[in-house]
Amino acid sequence: MRAVLLFLGGFAACLSLIVLLGAKHSPTKAKATTDRDVYYPATEDLGKDEMRVVALGTGMPSVRPKQAAACWLVELGNGDKFLFDIGSGCHERLAAQKIPYDYLNKVFIGHLHVDHMGDLPSLWLGGTVMNRLVPLRIWGPSGATKEFGTAASMQKMKEMYVWDIGTRSGVIDFRGGELEVNEFPFNGINEVIYQENGVTVRSIPAVHGLDGAVSFILEWNGLKFVYGSDTIPNKWFVEHAAGADIAIHECFLPPTLLVTKQGFAPKEALMVGTQGHTSPEQFGKVMSLAKPRLAVGYHFYNDFDTEPEVRDRVRRTYDGPLDLAVDYMVWNVTKEEIRVRMSAVDEEVWPSPALKKKIAPDTGSAINFSEFTISGALGFPEVTQPIFDEINEKYGTDIKPLFTK
Ligand SMILES: [Zn+2]
Ligand SMILES: [Zn+2]
Repeated sequence: MRAVLLFLGGFAACLSLIVLLGAKHSPTKAKATTDRDVYYPATEDLGKDEMRVVALGTGMPSVRPKQAAACWLVELGNGDKFLFDIGSGCHERLAAQKIPYDYLNKVFIGHLHVDHMGDLPSLWLGGTVMNRLVPLRIWGPSGATKEFGTAASMQKMKEMYVWDIGTRSGVIDFRGGELEVNEFPFNGINEVIYQENGVTVRSIPAVHGLDGAVSFILEWNGLKFVYGSDTIPNKWFVEHAAGADIAIHECFLPPTLLVTKQGFAPKEALMVGTQGHTSPEQFGKVMSLAKPRLAVGYHFYNDFDTEPEVRDRVRRTYDGPLDLAVDYMVWNVTKEEIRVRMSAVDEEVWPSPALKKKIAPDTGSAINFSEFTISGALGFPEVTQPIFDEINEKYGTDIKPLFTK
């Protein structure tokens, strides 16, 4: 009897081993990507008729670990990618998408508040260091006068970073440092500001801050994305967001919470929360009129103790499909379905390598140190030369250090 049991036990063990060895997947291996409830950046191809929208900044001008300031990435099944606003803190969220920088060369800025353009210098100049080898293209509105327009702002930005640019010119392949600025009239109503590769972007005026704020409408392949940037409720958004597949509009904290959570005075809370920005009830009213397939509200500190009140107040005026966004929320949009998920982000991510071949910089345009600064440099040849020798030997080069004394 005991021998039989031993035999059966051994047989079962062998069978388990065979099953284990023969199995294609261990029991802990993730399911197929299409079944996942979480989006892992750079692991899913888009369908040829599909749009992906990623929230890279949904918060306020004072950024916090959970929420950067306004930034939205739109990726299309034809390979095109667009950034709408580029607010403070969003660049690291963008890095988490693992997209080579050559694809991140189109930025549409709805208005020139820091929470909608604060990370532009970082994307512009930071992007050149490793791998954007094409010019950065910017679209933004004019202002009431020339000095308040996007072109003037970009010119000042170039002047502000003249030292940064000076360190890179003639040192790296700096083609990505070139800026292509496309300023368009802020008061154009549904005017085409971009049309390439089957994609059309239009602008409509917004009412926010000063003259010179706009909202955007992107249309491609029968899909329509509408992005408000900042605005109080306005007739242009209501009219032109109608029929959108996804319509994003600011939805500020209600004045009650601006007082209790953010320390605003009552008058300030009312003015900022309803006359300078859009309260949840006003957001709901806008969406009730525009009736998009999906309404997305953003631009508030979205937490367990604020979201319920914001949602309740939106629901007083709107009963359609609704998401209140936080950073890393992702929407896959097709004609049949809008699927929303959260991203799982790789904190260890490095910038994706350059796709184009780098060209050697024209070293003649490099700016040199003065004799004074050079006189202070310690070349440490006994330390530095072996580092050069190691590389030169490995790659068959003959590179020499700049500082030799
Ligand atoms: Zn603003
Ligand atoms: Zn804003």
